[in-house]
Amino acid sequence: MKDVEVDVLIIGAGPSGCVAAAYLHKHDVHVKVVEKSVFPRFVIGESLLPRCMDHFEEVGLLDCLIAQNFEIKSGARFIKGDTICEFDFAEKYTDGYDWTWQAPRADFDYALTEELKKQGVDITFRQEVVSVDFNNDGSSQTTIRTENDESFKIHAKFIIDSSGYGRVLPRLLNLDKPSTIPEHSSIFSHVKEMDRPEGMEGTFITFDVLDADTWFWVIPFSNGNTSIGFVGKTEYINSFDGTPSERLSEMIKQSSYYYERFKNVDFLFEPKVIQNYSKSVTQLYGKGYALTGNSAEFLDPVFSSGVTFATESGLKAAKLITRELKNDAVDWEKEYAAYMKKGVAVFASYVKEWYTGNLQTIFFDGANNPEIKRQICAVLAGYVWDETNPFVKNHNRLIKTVANVIHLERRTSK
Ligand SMILES: Cc1cc2nc3c(=O)[nH]c(=O)nc-3n(C[C@H](O)[C@H](O)[C@H](O)COP(=O)(O)OP(=O)(O)OC[C@H]3O[C@@H](n4cnc5c(N)ncnc54)[C@H](O)[C@@H]3O)c2cc1C
Repeated sequence: MKDVEVDVLIIGAGPSGCVAAAYLHKHDVHVKVVEKSVFPRFVIGESLLPRCMDHFEEVGLLDCLIAQNFEIKSGARFIKGDTICEFDFAEKYTDGYDWTWQAPRADFDYALTEELKKQGVDITFRQEVVSVDFNNDGSSQTTIRTENDESFKIHAKFIIDSSGYGRVLPRLLNLDKPSTIPEHSSIFSHVKEMDRPEGMEGTFITFDVLDADTWFWVIPFSNGNTSIGFVGKTEYINSFDGTPSERLSEMIKQSSYYYERFKNVDFLFEPKVIQNYSKSVTQLYGKGYALTGNSAEFLDPVFSSGVTFATESGLKAAKLITRELKNDAVDWEKEYAAYMKKGVAVFASYVKEWYTGNLQTIFFDGANNPEIKRQICAVLAGYVWDETNPFVKNHNRLIKTVANVIHLERRTSK
């Protein structure tokens, strides 16, 4: 096969790669997307945050998604025993979208790639990036293996690595570093619900919290299927015996709220397990490349931030590359790494404080203060760069402080 020359090579056609490709194409940058699977393909990450709607809208990918009639997500519900804490995005502190979707990613990502093709973006499937060589000026030669086991090279001025769990450049350039998030794992599948409850009870996205480390997600889709999954410490997830189906069925018994609803459902595919899913890297960019989405960093599914970080970073990288190709000076450390790390740090605090139990204290014992709830709700909607929000600006200490006040009040009222 013939070698190819482009301005920008994007590895992977998940939401991060698609948003980046749409932006670059719109701005007349010669971009090529290389994707190793054939779409539609399964990937986990089905509950979105309102913030990512801004990104899809900005690059012209919102209408193709609206046309799919995915289930609208207007908030989220957290349950612990008899206590329920609901967030409604319409009441969030920061301006912005107050809804998004909960959607099967096979269909969601397929809709994005079909729209890219319609817009004229060069995107090829069943082609895998196997190696990359960088020149001193940052340009590169990437070797691609096709489905027929042929190979060819792509010469690019810039690479955006949006390869998600493939983590192509972190692997090839040895950029992986341990995450600071405690090690957790997950087991999940989809089920067909024959008698889903009517109304919101049937469609509300819910996190049933079993203890500080263990929780069960229920994400109903508009096609009648529901995604269910458990998250817990790796040793807890691995402590169940049997096939993945037997293990997940056994775990469902732990959810007193949902056991009746899901006790007899058939899994639509053998449950999948992802062990120790949190990932991090030593650097988010280098000469001639940027890491975006999951290839860069993944924290934890508890606040559904994965796709939003994927689109935020994909769009940001595409904007900076467009400027650089026009010979504008770009400060990648400040404009990309520091910017992304700021948002990641906010969510990282929320994830860590979830597993210390402090955030759960606020959700289940103290979220009756409407102002605090509005401010936390904006974070849960993905608006983590709004520094006027005290729960963004002081993320590393405010959760602890509020939880301590609640504990103190509880003790004194006894
Ligand atoms: C248990 C669990 C639950 C989650 N739940 C949520 C959730 O509810 N909400 C949420 O927002 N996020 C969630 N996530 C995170 C979410 O899965 C990811 O953050 C999101 O999919 C990242 O998108 P992406 O575009 O970076 O990569 P992906 O969507 O993973 O896409 C990457 C693409 O790159 C392709 N690729 C890989 N290697 C190569 C290669 N060598 N050559 C060419 N192509 C390649 C892959 O085939 C793939 O299509 C969850 C994660 C876990 C572990």
